[in-house]
Amino acid sequence: MENCVFCKIINRELPASIVYENEYVIAFLDISPINKGHTLVVPKEHHASISPVPAEFQQHILTVSSAIGRALIKSSEYDGFNLHLSNGGCAGQTVDHAHMHVIPRVGTDGFHWNWRALKYEDNEQSEIISNLQEKLKINES
Ligand code: 5GP
Ligand code: ZN
Repeated sequence: MENCVFCKIINRELPASIVYENEYVIAFLDISPINKGHTLVVPKEHHASISPVPAEFQQHILTVSSAIGRALIKSSEYDGFNLHLSNGGCAGQTVDHAHMHVIPRVGTDGFHWNWRALKYEDNEQSEIISNLQEKLKINES
């Protein structure tokens, strides 16, 4: 895809610090890391969001992301990692080529998700579940 920064990295039109690459995905260091070693795992096909990414690519994204997370723990001072994927601008996605963040973590890193804890009203959970299940389509092969 023209003018896509991640396609340009995949096609070697832009430089990146590449961590790993196979037929399906490429992984490179995020240019502005939350912690040093923060890696992006990107499908080699251009898809603006994760939903249209074919199943085998999605599997490679998850497999490679968790392997990189484990390697970051073994090779440095980190104790854990977050896998983070933003889908859509309202969710914070800034690059319109699907990607998974692998963010290495240690308890003293000073980074906190701004996570809130809302409360459900009486029947709200069952209404949400029935609406959601009506639309849920999972392509399991
Ligand atoms: P998003 O906000 O879409 O979930 O994440 C996009 C990420 O891509 C950001 O963390 C940003 O730092 C990273 N990024 C944007 N442009 C480049 C680039 O040219 N090279 C690299 N290595 N990372 C980039
Ligand atoms: Zn792209």
